Amino acid sequence: MEKNISQIIDQFILNPYPVKLDSQIMDENHGYYWGDKKFIPNFFGFENKDNISFAEAWFGIHPKAPSSVKIADQQISLLDLISFGKEKILGSMTYQQHQTLPFLVKVLSAHDPLSLQVHPNKQQAKRGFLKEEGKGPNYKDKNHKPEIVYTLTPFEALMGFRDIQDIIQQFSDFQIKQFKPFLNTLTQQSNGAGDDEEKKQDALKQFFYSLMNLEERKTKKVIKKLKKIAIKRFSYYPNIHSYEYWVLKCLENNKSAVKKEIANGKLKPEEKKTKLIQANRGIIIIYLLNLVLFQPGTIVYTPAGKIHAYLKGSCVEVMANSDNVLRGGLTHKHIDVEELLNILDFQSKGPAYLNANILGENEKEYTTVEKDFKTRIISLKENQKVGLSALSEAAVVLVVQGQVEMNWVNERNEVVKKGDAYLIPCGVNTCTFRAQSEESIIVLVTTG
Ligand SMILES: [Zn+2]
Repeated sequence: MEKNISQIIDQFILNPYPVKLDSQIMDENHGYYWGDKKFIPNFFGFENKDNISFAEAWFGIHPKAPSSVKIADQQISLLDLISFGKEKILGSMTYQQHQTLPFLVKVLSAHDPLSLQVHPNKQQAKRGFLKEEGKGPNYKDKNHKPEIVYTLTPFEALMGFRDIQDIIQQFSDFQIKQFKPFLNTLTQQSNGAGDDEEKKQDALKQFFYSLMNLEERKTKKVIKKLKKIAIKRFSYYPNIHSYEYWVLKCLENNKSAVKKEIANGKLKPEEKKTKLIQANRGIIIIYLLNLVLFQPGTIVYTPAGKIHAYLKGSCVEVMANSDNVLRGGLTHKHIDVEELLNILDFQSKGPAYLNANILGENEKEYTTVEKDFKTRIISLKENQKVGLSALSEAAVVLVVQGQVEMNWVNERNEVVKKGDAYLIPCGVNTCTFRAQSEESIIVLVTTG
């Protein structure tokens, strides 16, 4: 580190104050093609001059896109500030347990579906990262990645496996002969399992495996039939909140994504057919999962092992500091079925909604079993005020609606508006927020 910067940080530690975080925004030029063109520019208040799509903004220290802060007119990486300031920035508990900022906050906006995915637990991530020697394609770091979503708009998602009986019913209704043998096995095994949860999960695992490994020729036929059924059903029930809508949407997206890959030389024309079939195979999986529509303001927890896909909508995502994703298709991205099966949890379970701890009239806190983060939602009407008394651990705050005045000790204050994020170091004694707009909402994240 430059001497100059270490001196600035030294000074800062003596009298810390909230610092604004500059995030890196992931757009289509970073390979994130599913983002919305309007939401993120509007949220952060910039113009989308090139009319491109913006998928995510990251606030944290993940090496893929660490945030930076401006101190004494110097742009400093948050990673440097924290590795140099240690417990004086993080707080002693956070430093002892994690040695670094253990969470990552994102603003995410999906115009198109993301891949079906699942995140590893700590053990799986460590093992996977070592096995791949840090070169990928599955493991980007050694950390687990539990996450929560706080929805900012109506939000369509696939989350967790449906009840086996519903799956059997669904696949029987299709009357597709290629499904028959697997469906018979699933029915027999599930009937034979009785109340034995583990046996039921094994049955579902086998069914999932059979679908993911369906031969190319059969997959092509199945997809053709599913498409026909979806078109017919959608014409009777033309609603975006339907399996049929998403099946048709994903088929269309895969076709254009593969075309794009060929056009920009990432894929050879002769690979087109295989790639498209591989991508479309995941579309069958949609029918195994719960399709859910969350209203704005919903908080949902996704633990390790739980299958999910975000289809459309915008949210704040809070997660452990990791980028470990195992994909299960739906899009044209890399799939590793064997590794996926190692970490997937085959319990039939819908979304895990979190109950709030009411901290005060305007504050709710959401915790999970994980120690990496806890999330507070602060809602203020105009002129209402809330104070954070002596934060013992560092926090990241993000205003998601309205505008507030942030005051801290020795009469310092700053106007913080929608899209602004700050790091509040642990030493800041008191920090208050007063709403300057009709309705303001602040997301505050600290260590759990
Ligand atoms: Zn996820």
